[in-house]
Order: sequence, then structure tokens, then C-alpha cells
Amino acid sequence: MEKTVKLDPKKSSVRYVPTRIAICKECGGKGVIYMDGVPLKCTSCNGSGRVKVTCQVISTVSAFVPGKDDAEGDLTV
Ligand SMILES: [Zn+2]
Repeated sequence: MEKTVKLDPKKSSVRYVPTRIAICKECGGKGVIYMDGVPLKCTSCNGSGRVKVTCQVISTVSAFVPGKDDAEGDLTV
């Protein structure tokens, strides 16, 4: 079953963060991972030692309900 997210364009905004280059965490930027002393090409960065990071932030605005939403405790006002 396909999961769909319905967003109200009036209440939601999607922000794209530009792609940036980061050091591969899997291999620490070396491009190789040692398995029992055998060097293997890192599959996360394909041996380059670097990865591209892309993210997308969705902000949703909805009405605050006094007495209900302020009792949740995770809001700091
Ligand atoms: Zn890597």
C-alpha cells in the first residue's frame, strides 16, 4: 500500500536545503572499509570518501488550541 502525505499548500511550506558535500561517515573519508583486514570499497560513497547531503524541510502551520495544545508540555512559551 502506498503511503501518501497530503499537504495543504496554504499551511505548509517546503524548504529545500542546497546539496552539500560531506565526509562519508561510513569510511571516515578514506573511501575504503576494512573487513577483517581486507580493504573493501565503501558502498556509501563509492570509494570517493565524500557524500552529497540533500535535505528537505516541511513546515506545517496549524491553529493553536488554548487548553489543549498548551497542556502537552513540549511547547516552550
Ligand atoms: Zn565512504
